[in-house]
Amino acid sequence: MTTTPAAATVPAYAAPTPGAPLERTAIARRPVGEHDVRIEIKYSGICHSDIHQIREGWGEGIFPMVPGHEITGVVTEVGPGVTRFSVGDRAGVGCMVDSCRECDHCRAGNEQFCVRGSIATYNALDKNGEPTLGGYSTHIVVDQAFTLRIPDGLPLDTAAPLLCAGITLYSPLAARQAGPGKKVAVVGLGGLGHMGVKIAHAMGAEVTVLSQSLRKKDDGLRLGADHYYATDDPETFEKLAGTFDLIVSTVSVPLPLDDYLGMLSANGALVNVGAPEAPVSLNLLSLIGGGKALIGSNIGGIRETQEMLDFCAEHGLGAEIEVIGADGINAAYERVLSSDVRYRFVIDASTI
Ligand code: NAP
Ligand code: ZN
Ligand code: ZN
Repeated sequence: MTTTPAAATVPAYAAPTPGAPLERTAIARRPVGEHDVRIEIKYSGICHSDIHQIREGWGEGIFPMVPGHEITGVVTEVGPGVTRFSVGDRAGVGCMVDSCRECDHCRAGNEQFCVRGSIATYNALDKNGEPTLGGYSTHIVVDQAFTLRIPDGLPLDTAAPLLCAGITLYSPLAARQAGPGKKVAVVGLGGLGHMGVKIAHAMGAEVTVLSQSLRKKDDGLRLGADHYYATDDPETFEKLAGTFDLIVSTVSVPLPLDDYLGMLSANGALVNVGAPEAPVSLNLLSLIGGGKALIGSNIGGIRETQEMLDFCAEHGLGAEIEVIGADGINAAYERVLSSDVRYRFVIDASTI
């Protein structure tokens, strides 16, 4: 006789309606399928994307919404077809939980560009049409193909933000060969930006932070920056004209892009990973003169995310975190919105 395993009900924090404060609730996690692992979540990072989405800043969302795509924990159950994980393994989940797995992008390991749409960890519909629910919870069930291995050298709390902030900066830095002899600027010293500084420094690049003020200068230099400038000082843009091979902007609001493009050297690239809710304007002459590129970058594929985790373990890199209890999520959101995060809030899942 076969029995159908039952879905499990677990506690979570959800926004019941757009923009509403998050509150404790209970959600169902699917039974562990053939290729699934069940993870007991230990830590879940708070990404600015969580805030954009619960406020519907990028468009209509699915509610109640359980955010969270920077998840680390321990495997507690595996399906019969699981080959890559065992009970007790340290595991992570990032921004995606599935994709078509057949298109050219999926086959190339760029599931984030899946032509049928990768399935986001929350605020999306899974292959059965059920809403996906993210990491602000105590457990999650995910296919092994979208589950990451957390190397032994990385603590689970400081590793959690690597699953989004880490890969989002690692991918464009690696793609543009940030390394010795390259001048790299990171705009915005927040969750993404501080990982960008650490990773670009570990890759061997000469790193500059471009922050709104000099308020976090000591931190920036300690994290690995060689230089630190305030963008509220108009002279910064003149002083640094034509300087950088690569600028990565992590800023969550529209920036005057022409001013930033002016700081690139000829053939330099401005990679934008910040995802403002409003459009930006651009004078195309800012690109033409120096043959400059303006590029978007979207997290990174599963294979590259594992490569990033291994790189961070090898270089002893984790996020600078402030661990909070689940009852502090709403206050943490306000602090993120006022650029008062040093440098990632991480929820201790045992408090959910
Ligand atoms: P965050 O921790 O809030 O960091 C953003 C930083 O931008 C702030 O700390 C601040 O740094 C700077 N900033 C904020 N307001 C600014 C303003 N008015 N003018 C200039 N600078 C300002 O956010 P995050 O979690 O790192 O995420 C950043 C953005 O990336 C969000 O839009 C998020 O949705 C997006 N994102 C994109 C991807 C992707 O794949 N492309 C992945 C994850 C997140 P200073 O105080 O140093 O100026
Ligand atoms: Zn994120
Ligand atoms: Zn695909």
